[in-house]
This record gives sequence, C-alpha cells and structure tokens, in this order.
Amino acid sequence: MSAPNAAYTQLCSLLRDAAHLGAVSSLISWDQETYMPPSGASGRADQSSILAGIVHERQTSPKIAELLAACEQDADLTKPGSATAANLREIRRDYELATKLPKELVEELAKAGSMAQQVWKEAREKSDFALFAPHLERMFLLTRRKAECLGVPRGGELYDALIDEYEPNTPAAEIEKVFTPLRARLSELLKRVQADGNPPSEKPLLLKFEPEVQHALGLFVLEKMGFDLKAGRLDTTTHPFCSGMGPGDVRLTTRYRGEKWTDALYGTLHEMGHGLYEQGLPKDSHFGEPLGASVSLGIHESQSRMWENFVGRGKPFWKWLIPHARKILGKRIDRYDVKDYFFAANTARPSLIRVEADEATYNLHVMLRFEIERGLLRGDIKVRDVPAEWNRRVKEFLGLDVPDDRRGCLQDVHWSFGLIGYFPTYTLGNLYAAQMWEKINKDLPDLTKDIGKGKFGALKAWLNTNIHAHGRRYSAAELCKRATGSELSSEPLLRHLSAKIKTVYGV
Ligand code: ZN
Repeated sequence: MSAPNAAYTQLCSLLRDAAHLGAVSSLISWDQETYMPPSGASGRADQSSILAGIVHERQTSPKIAELLAACEQDADLTKPGSATAANLREIRRDYELATKLPKELVEELAKAGSMAQQVWKEAREKSDFALFAPHLERMFLLTRRKAECLGVPRGGELYDALIDEYEPNTPAAEIEKVFTPLRARLSELLKRVQADGNPPSEKPLLLKFEPEVQHALGLFVLEKMGFDLKAGRLDTTTHPFCSGMGPGDVRLTTRYRGEKWTDALYGTLHEMGHGLYEQGLPKDSHFGEPLGASVSLGIHESQSRMWENFVGRGKPFWKWLIPHARKILGKRIDRYDVKDYFFAANTARPSLIRVEADEATYNLHVMLRFEIERGLLRGDIKVRDVPAEWNRRVKEFLGLDVPDDRRGCLQDVHWSFGLIGYFPTYTLGNLYAAQMWEKINKDLPDLTKDIGKGKFGALKAWLNTNIHAHGRRYSAAELCKRATGSELSSEPLLRHLSAKIKTVYGV
C-alpha cells in the first residue's frame, strides 16, 4: 500500500462536509413533511433555499476542482478497476453536473419547490388544480432552465438531461423503447384477467384496525426483516417516503388512511426496502463519497419493490405474518386464512392511485406520467391541459374515469418538488427487482422456506453483498450484470406477473 494521498484525503473530507450539510437539508424537509406546523412553511422555504445554496457552493468550490485534478494525475489512485478510480470518476461527474447549475437557479428551485409543495398539499385536499397550476407552471419553467444548463446530450432531448440525475445514461427514447412493448404485454395480461379471470375477494384487506396497532405491526415487521431501528425511525406523512440522512439515520414514513389496512403495511415494506439499501451503504467509511451513495433511483426502487412485492405479496410471507399479526392486531385476523390474504394481496385491478396500485397495473401509472411530463417539457402539453391529458390516459391505459383531480393529476408530490424525469425509475426498479429475484432464488434455494419461518437474513445478506456494499462503484447497468449475470430485460418481470396471475386468477 502506498501512503495515503493527501489531496485524496482532503477531497473526501470536503465532500463529507458537504454531505453533512445535505443531511441537515434532508432533515428539515423531513420535518416539514412530518411535524412542522403549517405556519412554518414560508420560513422553512427560506431555510431550504439558503441551505441548498450553501451545499451547492461547497460542492462546486474551486478547491474541489483543484484537488480532483491533482488526484486524477495520480497513477495509484486511477488504477483501472480500483475503488479509488471509480470514486474519482463519479466525483468528476458530480462536479461537472453541479457546476453547470448557477447558484441562483438552485436556490430558486429549492424555494419555489418548497412553496409549491405546500400549495400542492392544499390543492390536493381540495381537489383544486387551478390553485396548483401556477406553481406547476413555475416548476416546469425552472426545471426546463435546469435541463438547458445541464445540456442536452447529442441527439437527445431536454428530458434526457433531467433523468440523467436519477438514472444516469438512460435517455427518454430508450425508456420509450422498453415501455411501449411492456405496455402492450401488460394490457394483454390485464385483458385476459378481466375477461376470464376468477377475481379473488379483497375483503381480507378491508378489515378495520386502529392506526396505533397498525404502527406496532409495521415496527414488528421492520425489526424482523433486519431494519435497524436504532439507526432509523418510522413516522406518518401524506406521501410515504424514505430519507437516508447521515450515517446511522434513515427515516421512513407511511400512512394509515388507506382504504385497506395493507396499504400502510405495504407502504412500510416498500420504504423499508429503500431504508435497508441506505443502511447497507458503506457510509461509515465513505459517507459523502460516491462509494458510500446509492447508484441510481432505479436500483433504489428495485430494493423497495423486492420487499414490498416479491417478499411481501408472496404466500410464505403471509404464512409467517398471520400468527404475529393476530397478537398485534387481534383475533379478527382469523376470519381469513393464508390463502385468502395471499389471493387478496395479489388482485390485479385497475385503480386510480399509483401508490396503492397492484403489481400488474402499477407500471401503467408510471407510463402515463412519463408521457405527460415529457410532453410538458417538449411543450406539446400545456399545464392547463394536464387534468384532461391525465384523465384521457387513465381511460385509455386503465379503462377508468377519474372522478376528481385529487385522485387524478394531483395525487403525487413529485412535480411540486421539481422531480421531473423521476417516474420512469419506478418501472426500471420493478424490472431490476424481478431480475434480481430470479437470481436470488437460484443462489438461495431455501428462500421460500426461510421466509415462511420469518428468516430474512440470507436475503438481506445477498442484497448487502451484491448491491448495497458497492455504492456507485459500478453503473446501474454494470451492477445488474454483475449481480444477476445478464443485462436488464423485461422478461423476468413478465414471467413473474404471468405466473402470479395464473395462480391467483387461473388464467
Ligand atoms: Zn420507492
């Protein structure tokens, strides 16, 4: 081992400081979503904006450029295939991206986003799109400016510059190429279900339980699955999320107001999947460096989908859960058996709300958002037409009429935050999860039995070793290939859904 390079050590230390400030920024936005009184909104918007500016200033300081350039001259650090080379490659990428954005724009986006999010909450409650429209207009205007600053890749479009932040090197045209045939196959599957399927009863999911006992069940499941509650929390919000802050601090949220009691359970499982990824990243040694960060949102989402759908909607999971649920939720749970819960949790029925959609229809929700936000950026769709464009696609993709904007285009928080180009990562996550699941079951032949006994350790360890531990050392595509042995394909997901539908619907 050569002596540690002073420039490299200093570079990592500067990045760690910036990441700690970023964690403070995450913390105040978590607080805004959970406990902040409504009148704090305007002050909080200023705080978010000031912090975003400071973080950005740190990330783009000339000192970073200087140290990075020095490190890039060091043959030891840049040895092909080494961890330090990967770290430097990604630090360079982050720096280039961050310096393309003027500080004023970063601050403006943070401030406008904070306000828009507050208005979105009210608009959603009142189902009043007109109230939200000017804010949405502003967020798209600022985001378009952001995309222009970041630069459109050759032969690409504005959307590509935005998605690159969430899912590097995945242009919109390529997403469209995956989505279009997937949509056709999913629609075909849905049609078969609706025409000839024998629909299971959803009654087991409609049992009523108080939020307190549901919360207790959530915490029980988190602990058994290996989420470290000494390094994380579970709270309630309008829109469930997971926020990984500094080392040892991962915040999960869920909500207990869903139509079905399992909405909260699956929401918790979903966010826990994100949380396990955050807890599994090597933050103790690499916080602030790319090696200590998640690789892409698609991979992040694969982790949440895995626990929510591949584990949580499986029969072994229900076999394990029911005796414990009886102790926590009460004897009412005995009205139904394992098969009833398993069938009920796997209905494939078009619905209006994305976060409560089933596995088979979920991706159709994503595809309609992808089309609308892409159209808004291109200018093909005007903000005032969003409700009509939304409702038309819900009818076309899912066969449903949207009764109000609360259950239509106002349901998601993303656009108010300026998260545009983000939705496709959900479907990419489903595709990655399905492909990993096939490989995991080959590597761990006892997995089904283990889950039935509440043993989740081997699964978590597989994910820790093959996915979490690498941070951003490999690209998402490379990581997928290393972990599963092949490039990303939509076949595993289609196989999974077809098999599920055959079991549950008999078609
Ligand atoms: Zn998620």
